[in-house]
Amino acid sequence: MTGLWTQFLQFLSKVIIPDWGTIIAVLPILLVIGVVGPILTLVVLGWGVEAVRRRRGRVRLATIEVRPVERNALGMPVVPANVPYCPHDALAFAPRDTRCSACGRDLEVRCPVDGTVRLAARQVCPACGTRYVLGELPALVAAAHGGPPPGGAAAA
Ligand SMILES: [Zn+2]
Ligand SMILES: [Zn+2]
Repeated sequence: MTGLWTQFLQFLSKVIIPDWGTIIAVLPILLVIGVVGPILTLVVLGWGVEAVRRRRGRVRLATIEVRPVERNALGMPVVPANVPYCPHDALAFAPRDTRCSACGRDLEVRCPVDGTVRLAARQVCPACGTRYVLGELPALVAAAHGGPPPGGAAAA
């Protein structure tokens, strides 16, 4: 058994030793391919993912966080209900914002049920008492259809 093992080792050393020179010569290249390659790939991949994430975040900031609101013929800002906005700068803000990032004034928000304008920091409409979470407009529009008839609040 031990004789066989020694023979095997001798055979192995004959096979391996002539190759060491080649392996050592190729080692730096293998290192580059085997170690630096994957690291580089990971870095590039990570950078790409980060870049895409940042670009998405920027788009979200530009389209949802703060945007200018339209004005009607009288120059009054026309904003959808339930959106905090600054009448001074005519800017619409994200659902949970309560202060204008441009002038520092308190933001206002329009009630989707009766159109009453109040401070965005107030969750309950002073006119109709409707409490709702800012920004969740679709469900409230649906609820408003079952409420007072359109124009009823304007007459009062
Ligand atoms: Zn402002
Ligand atoms: Zn209301």
